Amino acid sequence: MKIHDFLPIPDILKYKTILCVQPHPDDNEIGMGGALLKFKALGANIAYCTVSQGKGGSNTLRSEELVKIRQEELRNAGTFVGATSFYQLNLSDTHYPDEKEITEQLVAIIREVKPDIVFTVNPYLMYEAHPTHRKTGMAVLEACMFSSMKHFPNPDASTEPKVHRVETIGFYASAKPNVLIDISETFEDKLNAIFKHESQFDAQGQAQLSQYLSMQAMTFGQNLKVSKAEAFKVLPMVLTHMMIESETY
Ligand SMILES: [Zn+2]
Repeated sequence: MKIHDFLPIPDILKYKTILCVQPHPDDNEIGMGGALLKFKALGANIAYCTVSQGKGGSNTLRSEELVKIRQEELRNAGTFVGATSFYQLNLSDTHYPDEKEITEQLVAIIREVKPDIVFTVNPYLMYEAHPTHRKTGMAVLEACMFSSMKHFPNPDASTEPKVHRVETIGFYASAKPNVLIDISETFEDKLNAIFKHESQFDAQGQAQLSQYLSMQAMTFGQNLKVSKAEAFKVLPMVLTHMMIESETY
């Protein structure tokens, strides 16, 4: 008997309440814009949570100005792919975020949104240089576990928190995916969503990213025998603690 017989890979498109946690205002659309448009068409409730305000996303604009612009772009792009609620973590951009800070704030959001599945970047992406990406992925893993535990964050609290058990976690930007989603029909709108982040891509940047994402989606699409696909590493939460099978799941 293999782990997949015992615990089949979840059909992620069945989930109705989705929380997508992104390190920066444009990561959700780049990582899973095509799948989000499918979730939107299926009538899912989509919530966005953004960890950093993205102050570092320009070498020319002043940071306060940039934050305002990126907030607007985030709403435009998120709304376009179906997000109806937006959370922004209250973290300073002047220091690298601490995983514990992110985790505590995320647990509160998870308990409010009550997602079936939480998506985020993969913290195990080899050679990922950006600390906010690595730390966000790890913090989301922790938060999905702690959100179901009454003792978190305060074991001595006089009132018990309203806990929530996340069923599944999904990592986009995964080098070893176990789920492919056909995005042949939504790929063009995925690009339209990404380029609502006008401050981040000039004409040359748009052309290069379009070409790269198209090539990536076609490569994954070949494995699914469709034109274009997005790839995820999906884990039921039961596989996220002391389970060696999570590596090969
Ligand atoms: Zn990012």
